[in-house]
Amino acid sequence: MLLTPSFLPELIEAVTEAITKNSDKITLLDQAIGDGDHVTNLQRGLATLMTQRVDLSQLDWPAAWQKIGMTVMTAVGGASGSLYATLFLAMGKMALGKDMNVQRFSEVFTQAVEAVKHRGKSDVGEKTMLDVLVPVAEYLQKSAAVSMPLSTLLVQTKQVAIMGRESTRDMLATKGRASFLGERSKGHIDAGAMSSQLIICAVVDVLLAHLTSPP
Ligand code: ADP
Ligand code: MG
Repeated sequence: MLLTPSFLPELIEAVTEAITKNSDKITLLDQAIGDGDHVTNLQRGLATLMTQRVDLSQLDWPAAWQKIGMTVMTAVGGASGSLYATLFLAMGKMALGKDMNVQRFSEVFTQAVEAVKHRGKSDVGEKTMLDVLVPVAEYLQKSAAVSMPLSTLLVQTKQVAIMGRESTRDMLATKGRASFLGERSKGHIDAGAMSSQLIICAVVDVLLAHLTSPP
């Protein structure tokens, strides 16, 4: 399967659908340990990306990721806006001049997750989106180095993302608004970990569908 930005309209639609379907759940999570705006922040960004999806599909990956990053930066807002924007802007920068394959993507994604850590001054274990992004990056790096069917890699990526999301439930939040609650932040999944998991799983499902029935 040759993955080009021509997939972007389908990917943006799938992510929008996944976030919309789970919007009440994400809001309840952000209300429990944050201020409840995470889903509306994301939906503002996704609505703009929906209007840009055809233009995006005509770019190469570095330019497409850069444009997505700029849109996320201006349209999403909140802590998550600048962090997700950092992820995409860094992916755009790291991918410059490289052909995309699984190995390269895993390197680009890992470097972009490092940029998010730097921007958020945070790391895995602090009850944030990084508890999904970091294990997924590590898994991609590890599995890209061995030979395995792409379908297995994709299915396991979803499992790693779900485990990462679940891992945040009993964590103490030490970054973001949830950290103001101290011990009371325990017992709730982090909203940003949930949205990261949903985005990753939606993207992977589109890829899996094309693996089984090529366009
Ligand atoms: P805000 O907290 O400004 O209202 P959002 O509700 O859109 O922004 O996003 C909150 C999410 O952002 C959190 O659930 C968490 O996953 C993520 N987040 C917040 N601060 C950080 C940080 N310093 N590092 C990594 N992720 C963070
Ligand atoms: Mg919020």
